[in-house]
Amino acid sequence: KKNLDSSSIEHDDRLINGLISDQFDDGSCLSRYQVASYRKESPYKPSSYLISRLRRYEALHKRCGPNTESYNRYVADLRAGKKPEEASDCNYLVWVSFSGLGNRILTLGSAFLYALLTDRVLLVDRGVDLDDLFCEPFPEASWLLPLDFPIIDQFKSLNQKSPECFGNILKTSNSSSSSSSSSPYVYLHLVHDYDDHDKLFFCDQDHSFLQNVPWVIMKSDNYFIPSLFLMPSFEQELHKLFPEKETVFHFIGRYLFFPTNPIWGLITRYYNSYLAQADERIGIQVRVFDTRVGPFQYVLDQILACSLDNNVLPNINPDESFITSPENRKSKAVLLTSLSSGYFEKIRDMYWEHPTVSGEVIEVFQPSSEGYQQTEKKMHHRKAWAEMYLLSLTDKLITSSWSTFGYVAQSLGGLNPWILYKPENETTPNPACTRAMSIEPCFHAPPFFDCKKRAGTDTGAIVPHIRHCEDMSWGLKLV
Ligand code: GDP
Repeated sequence: KKNLDSSSIEHDDRLINGLISDQFDDGSCLSRYQVASYRKESPYKPSSYLISRLRRYEALHKRCGPNTESYNRYVADLRAGKKPEEASDCNYLVWVSFSGLGNRILTLGSAFLYALLTDRVLLVDRGVDLDDLFCEPFPEASWLLPLDFPIIDQFKSLNQKSPECFGNILKTSNSSSSSSSSSPYVYLHLVHDYDDHDKLFFCDQDHSFLQNVPWVIMKSDNYFIPSLFLMPSFEQELHKLFPEKETVFHFIGRYLFFPTNPIWGLITRYYNSYLAQADERIGIQVRVFDTRVGPFQYVLDQILACSLDNNVLPNINPDESFITSPENRKSKAVLLTSLSSGYFEKIRDMYWEHPTVSGEVIEVFQPSSEGYQQTEKKMHHRKAWAEMYLLSLTDKLITSSWSTFGYVAQSLGGLNPWILYKPENETTPNPACTRAMSIEPCFHAPPFFDCKKRAGTDTGAIVPHIRHCEDMSWGLKLV
């Protein structure tokens, strides 16, 4: 059993094997140094090259970040609508807040890796509540885009038709002269509805003109990292950063996303009350993409089939009213997350009304049941983030197809989940779920284009470490 007294934590690696800097003051973000006592030690180790690149990035961020002399100079240029005359020593990537929280976390992670690869400084548009959810990840310099940023009011209206849009610039210029775009910024549209021109972002020859653009503004709702691995210009660097390919978001996520103190309170109070004492913790993330509220019997059947067939949970004995097997009184705590409370209630009742065949004690908990996805409410997002994080602290995880909420939990936790297949025609799939190939998230909208041949191709069949996802046949994931 875990002892939560911080003086006796099982492994005290406050800096996560050197992944995070020791330059922070503890109180501003308690989760940063406390989380180690809530997690098992990760089986993965960050490469020393990744660690050195993170420290280099932090130095760049400190030199060019908000309110530095460089920042003020380049912002003044941007406000005046002019491009700097010489190559600038600070270039920026502005990430615009957009979409559900799981999507935001994955794309922000993708944006950070892209910034690291291209020596850009990542600045984040805080949207409704980003500053409420995440601690500052870089020491001594904020990652939040200052609110007086010149074109901040235009973020909402930036779209594929904007003259500053990357795809549009390529469309209107004959490829070779594309660098002549006069705007000091380029808008990158990497949203699921992007078109063939926007997708040329992933082709080195088309991508290269961005090198001379000081400000890149990005909107995305996708985990686009797998396709960066297919670009020759990044391939070697990525290989050095992540010798184990499936650890990309595991490390980026653990480096960037620490819950702020109010969220850490939600997480630790819940953990200590309901999960800490169990012999094993099981996470079940239920996400049903249906406009009706549910619960649905075919989904409940699916969750149970997956849990029982894979020995994640024990079966019940419907014929016995009482089983005594004192030698096997192990306890399992199930943390179920869902917008609906129905699945939790049914599973909890099942283990109340009947004994388990194994004699194990099954406790079932659900932190919230918010009913439907809400976009402008602070507490709603706080709970969603706390729940993703709690799921990442479990020992075994079952997730739902297509859900970035589940991807965040699995990658942060370093957990290879069982993924519930997406039901068709309101029937329980058989088999109900499959074990994931890796802990990586799936890129839902990858390009299928051979940049050299300028023709369509199956990007899931080029290299062995990039394959189609378990839960989405056209998606790509690192394995
Ligand atoms: P995805 O739609 O499953 O890929 O995940 P997102 O996180 O991007 O968007 C879904 C949003 O719906 C979440 O951010 C939450 O606001 C809400 N939501 C979905 N499932 C849950 C859940 O189990 N618990 C809570 N608290 N919110 C949820």
